Amino acid sequence: MENFTDPVFSSDHLLNYLPENPIKEYFANAWIYMTKNYTKFQIATWGSLIVHELVYFAACAPGIIFQFLPFMKRFKLQPNRPETFDGQWKCFRLLMFNHFCIQLPLIAGTYLFTEFFQIPYGWDEMPPWYNIALRVFGCAVIEDTWHYFLHWALHDKRVYKHIHKVHHHFQAPFGMTAEYAHPAETLILGMGFFIGILLLANHVILLWAWVTVRLLETIDVHSGYDVPYLNVFHLFPFYGGARFHDFHHLNFTGNYASTFTWWDKIFGTDKQFKEHYAKLEDKKSKSQ
Ligand SMILES: [Zn+2]
Ligand SMILES: [Zn+2]
Repeated sequence: MENFTDPVFSSDHLLNYLPENPIKEYFANAWIYMTKNYTKFQIATWGSLIVHELVYFAACAPGIIFQFLPFMKRFKLQPNRPETFDGQWKCFRLLMFNHFCIQLPLIAGTYLFTEFFQIPYGWDEMPPWYNIALRVFGCAVIEDTWHYFLHWALHDKRVYKHIHKVHHHFQAPFGMTAEYAHPAETLILGMGFFIGILLLANHVILLWAWVTVRLLETIDVHSGYDVPYLNVFHLFPFYGGARFHDFHHLNFTGNYASTFTWWDKIFGTDKQFKEHYAKLEDKKSKSQ
């Protein structure tokens, strides 16, 4: 691992300031066990499916619990539209169809991709954690850009009712609705996820690191709860968060980006969002 060379991190000076991965030893043992006992196809396909399902439902769990905790209501962005059992069941059914009939064949394709581009699976080729983190950030910037323009296009009157209307079924989203979408939307917006991998993958670990971050992020922005202080994503400047995307579901217009706020700022598509919160602030200050 120490022998790994990369133009971005070739400076020893910079490396001296970065801490080692504290769970490196356990992670190494688990990774070596996996690569010895399973084929590349099994790792790329079933491994990726397991990572996706585990992360998706683990990330949804807090939101599922929050609806039964009365004190969490103060953090709910649209408290007048609570989650319902029927809504969550309807969402779960479509998710299962999308996960197993649309996403699984795409995931299986990643095996062919790693073979074609000779993306390594071994522990010896494992990049250091900071290299993975930087590449994941690159994937997020690429995906956010793709998502912004294609999502805006999906709101065009001529196509909206055919595809994107499904995702807007829930005006007050909850975590599970992150991937509640028409299969065509899963393919169109999902492309943005794969572009980063195509350009930046240097190890199969990037697929899992990026899918983990992307799922945590999209479930956070759909959670319907804006819980202060506990969310590490808010340490990143320009991170949109739940308040930003929840407004998109409430208003149907504006705030088209998935992760960052810069594209909406540049094109002024966050205007209604800013006005909405300025009005709320004004009301609050007048009532005090
Ligand atoms: Zn939309
Ligand atoms: Zn959404």
